[in-house]
Amino acid sequence: MGNSVRKGKAVFVDPTQVKNLQLYKAVIEDNSNKSPEIIKYKSDGNEGSEWKKNQKTALKIKLQEFIGSSDIVIFSKTTCGKCTKVKSLLDNMNTPYLAVEIDQMESSQRFEEVLYEHTMETTLPSVFVKEQLIQYDEIITLSKDGLFQKLLESKEDKPRDNSYDFDLIVIGGGSGGLAASKEAAKYNKKVLVLDYVTPSPTGTKWGLGGTCVNVGCIPKKLMHQAALMRQALKDSHKYGWQVDANTVQHSWEAMTDSIQNYIGSLNWNYRVSLMENKVKYENGYGEFVEPHKIKSTSSRGKVKYFTAGKFLIATGERPRYLGIPGDKEYCITSDDLFSLPYCPGKTLVVGASYVALECAGFLAGLGLDVTVMVRSILLRGFDQQMADKIGEHMEEHGVKFLRHFVPTKVEQIEAGTPGKLLVTAQSADGTEITGEYNTVLLAIGREACTRKIGLDIPGVKINEKTGKIPVNDAEQTNVPYVYAIGDVLEDKLELTPVAIQAGRLLARRLYGDSTVKCDYVNVPTTVFTPLEYGACGLSEENAISKYGEENIEVYHSYFWPLEWTVPARDNNKCYAKIICNLKDNEKVVGFHVLAPNAGEITQGFAAAIKCGLTKDQLDNTIGIHPVCAEIFTTLTVTKRSGDSILQSGC
Ligand code: FAD
Ligand code: NAP
Repeated sequence: MGNSVRKGKAVFVDPTQVKNLQLYKAVIEDNSNKSPEIIKYKSDGNEGSEWKKNQKTALKIKLQEFIGSSDIVIFSKTTCGKCTKVKSLLDNMNTPYLAVEIDQMESSQRFEEVLYEHTMETTLPSVFVKEQLIQYDEIITLSKDGLFQKLLESKEDKPRDNSYDFDLIVIGGGSGGLAASKEAAKYNKKVLVLDYVTPSPTGTKWGLGGTCVNVGCIPKKLMHQAALMRQALKDSHKYGWQVDANTVQHSWEAMTDSIQNYIGSLNWNYRVSLMENKVKYENGYGEFVEPHKIKSTSSRGKVKYFTAGKFLIATGERPRYLGIPGDKEYCITSDDLFSLPYCPGKTLVVGASYVALECAGFLAGLGLDVTVMVRSILLRGFDQQMADKIGEHMEEHGVKFLRHFVPTKVEQIEAGTPGKLLVTAQSADGTEITGEYNTVLLAIGREACTRKIGLDIPGVKINEKTGKIPVNDAEQTNVPYVYAIGDVLEDKLELTPVAIQAGRLLARRLYGDSTVKCDYVNVPTTVFTPLEYGACGLSEENAISKYGEENIEVYHSYFWPLEWTVPARDNNKCYAKIICNLKDNEKVVGFHVLAPNAGEITQGFAAAIKCGLTKDQLDNTIGIHPVCAEIFTTLTVTKRSGDSILQSGC
């Protein structure tokens, strides 16, 4: 592209210039990314309409990025007299601007086409001041009258007519924010989404899409899959595959590379779908500066202001730190793990909930030496019988547990990738232990991102202790025009589908004629350890406290997945349990399953539970043989009876 852009650092890569590549990686710079976003195009040399569409979309996004990247942006050609005149005028006024020299671009013709579609102007220069197109003649007249600076100032005074720039501003482009903004735009509303990733203490950053896509569900499930493959390799010789498990190697770098590439394509898809849905996207940190005004600050420090009638807080959470010597310097969190450029080696995982057990599970599944440091119990809030079974299974598969200890100090013994760390920990009775690890992963919960976004300016109340936002059943905060969804909410489940559902339904209620509210009851969930634990409804403890022990019946059984019988492993480890309300026709109020693919199993039963599933209906359902889920159609043993539930075959 040569020096096609002046007075700025924009980067432009033109897909059309790369020929005969099966997989082309176009790089679009995103201020929020540690590594640039990767867009993958398939090109067979005979580029079809899909290829052209992708390419045009890339150019449109680039055009928007240019327009938003400076107060004054001039699309010009080095050979164009009028362009030179405008640039000289601004130079003489000492006014900074960004000049995009189209004729220096590798795809100049196609970029010009996209610019024309945007401006409907057939001549250059195209000058944008504060993102608004200003005619050449107007610029000349204003500069003659010494009024050009006034133009800049007046654009800053938006809105001039007491109206707002946007109908809705969404702060946070994660699962909830993106779903809500796209849905709102379907009702022809002007919507802006601000998304900004504050780097982790070790400097990790990522692209658009929030926690789930970048540092949550997606990389976690893919690493879970990598761990399952090792088990499959071990089992395979019983099925006739002659694989020498000792010679099979795993490359952490290759795994993270593939996963990060996939995530890059998702980041890109989000950008495209925002554009296609006509949602404006700003890669900036959003905070209230006035009750209806947001300040957006980019990673380069560029500040913009936007106003709106309504606001949606969807800023999610970030990992908590221990607040002990060495934690921020030497420890990592799940924010860093999935893109760690080297294998973490011997790892201490601190914490005992979802994130901790899932990360410990897949790291051990990949063959690493893993210890989990547990302060109290596993999976607080979940059915504790199931949590204990998960712990047992993980232990049998090589994960070590240090129970009732918390770290007090982390020191570096040796720098490196990974280095060596010395961890000192203490139990409740004061016993002190030390251990050496290559990596310490903190998974001790997450902090809502609500304290630094100026919520006091509109007067939005948060729970001062937790930072969470209380809302009514319509996701409305105490300030009527400010709403909140997703992980920032007080007393709600922190799950991607919950944030998405709440966001979509909110937009439909705000701008459509829907009255449907998000139902936070009986939300199914799965913990991937890598043996999966699927749950929907009440834990046994909660069912007892809600209905009384005498009013519930618990049916349960161990089972042995057929595919595990031939390798002769893990019999009586998979477990199924339903909790029924005796006073309500044995309605199923709790569903728990420990099995391979428990997530897939639980999803279907969750729909049935939503429809009021009873034990009788389960008994009248014919099972699918031979699958794990059929166990739920044949449960006969109650916990109360104390009868044996051990299985010897399928
Ligand atoms: P997020 O997705 O976190 O999005 C918030 C966005 O706002 C982020 O991009 C953030 O950078 C941005 N932001 C914050 N402050 C500002 C600001 N001031 N200005 C601009 N932008 C800002 N859920 C599941 O359902 N299944 C799973 O398997 C699962 N696995 C998980 C694994 C891990 C390791 C973790 C950490 C979480 C997992 N979750 C899972 C939870 C899931 O990721 C979250 O519930 C979901 O992402 C919440 O969505 P959200 O929209 O509330 O917030
Ligand atoms: P969490 O559920 O809040 O659990 C925090 C864990 O850290 C607990 O085990 C807690 O122990 C421990 N802990 C807290 N402070 C500690 C300290 N100072 N020292 C030692 N241990 C400490 O947090 P999370 O696991 O990060 O998960 C956050 C949310 O993400 C979850 O609620 C979940 O909804 C979502 N998520 C979902 C999935 C999924 O759907 N599969 C996966 C991951 C995350 P105590 O019990 O002693 O307090």
